[in-house]
Amino acid sequence: MQISASIQPELLYPLLPPLSLLDKDGNFIFHSEKAAKVIRHWNPQDLPKNIKGLNYPELTEQLGYHLEIVSVNKESKAFKIVAPNEEDHILSFQLEVHPNLSDTYILYLPQRAEPYLSQAQNSNRFFENGLDNLSIPEATFYNNALGLTISGLDGIIHRVNKTFAQMLAYEPDELEGRSFYELNHPSDTPPNKELVQKLLRGEVDWITFEKRYIRKDGRIVWSKLWVRHYEDANTSFLISTIQDISEEKKRAEQLKRQQQQIESIFSNTLVGITLVSTEGDILSANPAFEKIIGYTETELKQLAFRELTHPEDRGYNHQLRQQVINQEAPYYSMIKRYIRKDGQIIWVNLSVSGLINENNEIKELVGTVVNISEEKIQAQKLQQSEKRYRLIANNTQDLISLFSIAEEAKINFLSPSVKSLLGYPAEELTDTPWTDLVHPDDRSFVAEILMTDLIEKTVTRYRVNTKSGQTIWLESVFVPVRSAQGELLYLQANSRNITDSVKAEIALDMKVAELDDANRKLKQYISSNSELEKFAYIASHDLREPLRTIIGFTQILASRYRKELKPEANQFLDLILDASKHMHQLVQDLLHYSRVSNESMDYQEIALPNLIRRLRSDLEETIIENNGVLIVLNLPSIIFGHETGLYRVFLNLISNSIKFRRKEVAPEIVISGFEEEDHWHFSISDNGIGIAADYHEQIFLLFKRLHSKVDYEGSGLGLPICRKIIDRHQGKIWVESTPNVGSTFHFTVAKSPSVSFR
Ligand code: ADP
Repeated sequence: MQISASIQPELLYPLLPPLSLLDKDGNFIFHSEKAAKVIRHWNPQDLPKNIKGLNYPELTEQLGYHLEIVSVNKESKAFKIVAPNEEDHILSFQLEVHPNLSDTYILYLPQRAEPYLSQAQNSNRFFENGLDNLSIPEATFYNNALGLTISGLDGIIHRVNKTFAQMLAYEPDELEGRSFYELNHPSDTPPNKELVQKLLRGEVDWITFEKRYIRKDGRIVWSKLWVRHYEDANTSFLISTIQDISEEKKRAEQLKRQQQQIESIFSNTLVGITLVSTEGDILSANPAFEKIIGYTETELKQLAFRELTHPEDRGYNHQLRQQVINQEAPYYSMIKRYIRKDGQIIWVNLSVSGLINENNEIKELVGTVVNISEEKIQAQKLQQSEKRYRLIANNTQDLISLFSIAEEAKINFLSPSVKSLLGYPAEELTDTPWTDLVHPDDRSFVAEILMTDLIEKTVTRYRVNTKSGQTIWLESVFVPVRSAQGELLYLQANSRNITDSVKAEIALDMKVAELDDANRKLKQYISSNSELEKFAYIASHDLREPLRTIIGFTQILASRYRKELKPEANQFLDLILDASKHMHQLVQDLLHYSRVSNESMDYQEIALPNLIRRLRSDLEETIIENNGVLIVLNLPSIIFGHETGLYRVFLNLISNSIKFRRKEVAPEIVISGFEEEDHWHFSISDNGIGIAADYHEQIFLLFKRLHSKVDYEGSGLGLPICRKIIDRHQGKIWVESTPNVGSTFHFTVAKSPSVSFR
């Protein structure tokens, strides 16, 4: 910068930087306009004539000192001082020899203050001045609030003040003479070498760095250093200002950790988090939000929140938002829909709160977003199924009811069918305990079911009283209804009126009881019947003897005295004879029947052609007498059985066919036989008087006869004997017959009858 004499200084005046011209003695020759402003700013009175008049003694001192050096060395010099009245700033000055005017110096004043660390302020002044030269009192050094050290370039400590010694838990004299290297934390990297060189060469006024010392007690102390290099002709040393920053470090560490935690939460949480300006611009979004909404953070930053919101949900949170911005409410939350990048509509639970800035205003909002689409879908499904269920409940004939799970199992809901079932309108019973309706006799066990924490469905039948006082039977299926978490919500019952079926069951039970009774009687009858059979045997057996005597003597009486007796007496005699013969026949048959029942039967091979031949010859006379005909068709040649028994069956049946012939029709009897799986099946057909259907079974009972003895002779024992014999051959006997057409008697005989003893 040159000031030429040929140019009018007035023109240059406003353009000049803040500078002043002064002489060797510190007298001001000239102030530029800007300099005047700077100086006046410090000294509102008149501009001083000499540097001694400056309102700021430090500047006076420093300027005097440098003026001397510059005037001797003819070299420019830059220096800095702490701004007066401004704690946090320093001011840079430059002093130069005027290139043209002898014994004139240019002082460049600072355009503006530079930020400066307040903590270093005191020591800075102290360094600028130099320890010895500025003759800082020992007390100022020793008692300074900042740690101060003077050390050689070799790291040997010359002097430390009290603060520094305390910082390291030493006494000052314990440190003096030791090397700094002993106090350094081994893992710290030494300050940048280049920077240190610059300091030593005087290219920088100080260097600053952070490092750790090891205290006497072994603990670590973090410190910040400002190191200056002092050099003169005799000596060179380093002056350091040291500040204990352990607390700040700790706080910074904590802050960093908190920051990391917050960042980690922000990036790892499943909750979507967004930072939105009060204008609605998205400032940032975490990965969870990106996932929920499908847009990347970069894409989101181009969007406004409004665009993400489902059109139907837009706008109605405006008021809530405004309340948060105005700090009338701490936050608001709502359920709303967003449209994802892929177009899918999702439901979210959104919570919005404000971030209060240093001016106590809210310019940014934090939104937390949870995707609740799944829950929403589930809820909708539940609602639908609930609707469906109500529809069913309202239309079913069954009674659907819900009971509270509280102690009394009060009715929460009843389907309308309750009206037709119990006569009550549903509303009338709401909140009534269900047990109140139950018949008193059934109440206790129904109550037990309702009060138990049912694990599974339970079906039970019980009686309830209708409004009109009638008692009906219900079958209820009680089902515990639980939440997804397994918590019992309520008890549901489906009930059906089963009165009719219960009545039917009761009737059936009665029938069963009746049958049981009949069965019992039958058993009694069977046992008494066998008693009767035994009696019949004994009676018939023992009757034979006296009967024979009666017949014998009646015949003798008839043959010897018939002529002497009156005709009337002869008639009586004939009657006695007839009756005796009949009785004889009866006794014979009875005895036979008893034998068939009680005696053992031996089975043997029977040659049927022989048996038929015998029958023919035994019946020949009777057949001829009645113009009858006996036809035998394809009989098996050999069967297995009791010969006398089966002969008797054939004989009885053929005799009956002849006996019960129609008067005007010649009897025609057909015998046939055929093979079945396990039996031989025989049939004997006639063209006789036939038997009415009502008697087809009865004719096989003892003494059952359909006609009087006068019309047809007989004892009524023939067919019962046949049945007995067939029974003992494990076969069956039955009749098919049409009155006045004829009858067919069928019987079967087991192919291999097992031997039976009675
Ligand atoms: P009865 O000694 O009277 O023949 P049965 O036990 O042999 O006794 O027969 C019982 C009754 O069955 C007979 O009295 C008769 O009324 C009827 N009955 C048996 N066989 C025939 C038949 N072939 N045709 C019509 N009625 C018959």
